[in-house]
This record gives sequence, structure tokens and C-alpha cells, in this order.
Amino acid sequence: STPFLSLRDLKVHFSTEDGVVKAVDGLSFDLEKGKTLGIVGESGSGKSVTNMAILGLHDPRNTTMDGEIVLDGKELISASETELEKLRGNKMSMIFQDALASLSPYHTIGAQIAETYRKHTGSSKKEARDRAIEMLRRVGIPQPDVRVDDYPHQFSGGMRQRAMIAMALVCDPELLIADEPTTALDVTVQAQIMDLLKDLQQEFGTAIIFITHDLGVIADIADDVLVMYGGRCVERGTKKQVLSAPDHPYTLGLLNSMPSLDGPVDVPLSPIPGSPPSLLNPPTGCRFHPRCAFAEKVSGGLCSSEQPKLEVTEGRGSACHLTSDQKRDLFADFAATR
Ligand code: SF4
Ligand code: MG
Repeated sequence: STPFLSLRDLKVHFSTEDGVVKAVDGLSFDLEKGKTLGIVGESGSGKSVTNMAILGLHDPRNTTMDGEIVLDGKELISASETELEKLRGNKMSMIFQDALASLSPYHTIGAQIAETYRKHTGSSKKEARDRAIEMLRRVGIPQPDVRVDDYPHQFSGGMRQRAMIAMALVCDPELLIADEPTTALDVTVQAQIMDLLKDLQQEFGTAIIFITHDLGVIADIADDVLVMYGGRCVERGTKKQVLSAPDHPYTLGLLNSMPSLDGPVDVPLSPIPGSPPSLLNPPTGCRFHPRCAFAEKVSGGLCSSEQPKLEVTEGRGSACHLTSDQKRDLFADFAATR
């Protein structure tokens, strides 16, 4: 069957005064309805750029997009701004890390949710207000019929995040893109928001793309995982495959730099040395090679000269020149701590 969302060899390049930034450089994945894809990577890996591309939010004046983005049979790269406008907030919507940036300070929470609903359904003002109250109730805002008339600044951070979720879901979108939506929240509120998203997904059957740098969050919510580095996917698979049997040195590095999800807590953490690559002048060969602890294990200097291919079998794969035998040996320390 045709997947609900399908990306094929997506490229998103920005022209800047300094040259072309290849922010996403050949990305493919599928997502089914009701499933959650976790996209993980450091900042600048291309996660947010990918999702802005799906939503059609890049400025066409300095952005070149190539490849295919097909949502429920509709190709989005070639779609007009009018068509995209119709889809955004309706068939697909987004929640961000910063609710204040997506809520206007000048209008009540209720008016903003109602307006989104009216815009896409043409409902009456009364219906839209009722719908806004109902959505606030669903996302767990106490006294929604009173709080509907509050302004964003009258809500706590966690409540604003809930209100943004209410606004994102008011038109029953089939695709929800969540870009680090809990990063700014304290751990307790973060857990509540994650539970809320899971409940709403159950209820609405929404497909979710969840972008984060936090593998703990991925472990909580994702079905499948895509690890991005330097604008490319370096590893993909089910959550279990990626988190418990990583197949790429970068994923291993990410896992080693965070507290174990369920293993011993006294294993020393080792952050990945160095910083993410420039996308203006990306490293030759494997983009991770300047930071990779295993690059010298590959003979012939291949890591710095040849870009490893992402080989995928049944949704599972990684892009690395190491052989499976080498990985088994080199990753053994990691396996021993899990
Ligand atoms: Fe490391 Fe080479 Fe594999 Fe890249 S291809 S992750 S540099 S071992
Ligand atoms: Mg981002």
C-alpha cells in the first residue's frame, strides 16, 4: 500500500552570501497513519529544515528543493502556496519548542484556536468558540470555558504548550510535526505533555514526526527512528533496533553521551568530541569522519574520501564503511553496558 507520507531523495539547499548551504542532502522515508517517526540529531543536522520543507514554509526566493514529498497522494514540492495554505493547520500541523512564538500575544487563546478552526471549516463564531473550549478541555486545561478568554501571558509555560497542541489539533490533522515541543519544559510537565500527545494520537490516529536531540524522548514516543547527521540520514530502524543495537558510530556516540535508558546509571558519559559539520563546506567522504573514533579502522582512507551509502533492508540500515564484523567488535563495550 502507498504510505501516508513519503519523502524521496529530498534536497533542501539555501543560497546565502557565502555560498550554497546543503541543509538536507538526499533524505528518504515513509510514515504510516497513527505511527510516530522520531528524527534525532544535533542542531544543524537538517531535522527542522526537513519538516519546514514538508510544511512548505521555506522562503522560495532563496531555497531550492528537489526530490519528492508526497502526503496522502499529493506531491507537495510542486504545490502552490494556496494549496499548502489549505493543508497547513488542517491536514498537517506543527508544534514548536516555543509556544510564545506561535501564539499571538494580542489575542486570547480561545480566539486563536477558534480562528484556525473557522479558517479551515467555515464554521460560525459560536461553533468555533465551542470547539476551542472543547479542545482546551481535551488537552487538560482546567476550567476551559473560563480560560478560553485568557491571553497567552496568563498561561504557564506548560499550559501554553497544551494550548498550542490544542490549536494544532483543532482541525483533526492527519500529520502532526512536533519540533522539540517539550525541550523548554521541566521534567514533570514534559512527561505530562508526552502522555498527552500519545493519548491524542490514540484518539485521532494522527501520524507524528517527533524531532528531538534527546534519545530519552525518542525511547518514550517513537515507533521508528531516523538519525540525522550533516543533512543526511546516517541510521534508521525501529526504535528497538536503533536504541539497543546501534549500527552507526554517530548513534553510538549519541547513546554514550546520555544516561542509559534502563541500564546501569554509573557508566561514565562521553560526549562526542568536536562540533557538527559546516553545511557550506561539508567534510569530504563521510561527513562524520572528523569526529569519528573509528575512522582509522577503515583501510585506504575511505572515510575521508568516499561517502558511505545508506543501505536499507526492510526499513533498517546505516551509512558507514565499517563491516558488520568490525562493528560487532568495536561496539562491544557499548553492548556490555546495556
Ligand atoms: Fe566513522 Fe568511517 Fe563509518 Fe563514517 S564511514 S561513521 S567515519 S567509520
Ligand atoms: Mg531545530
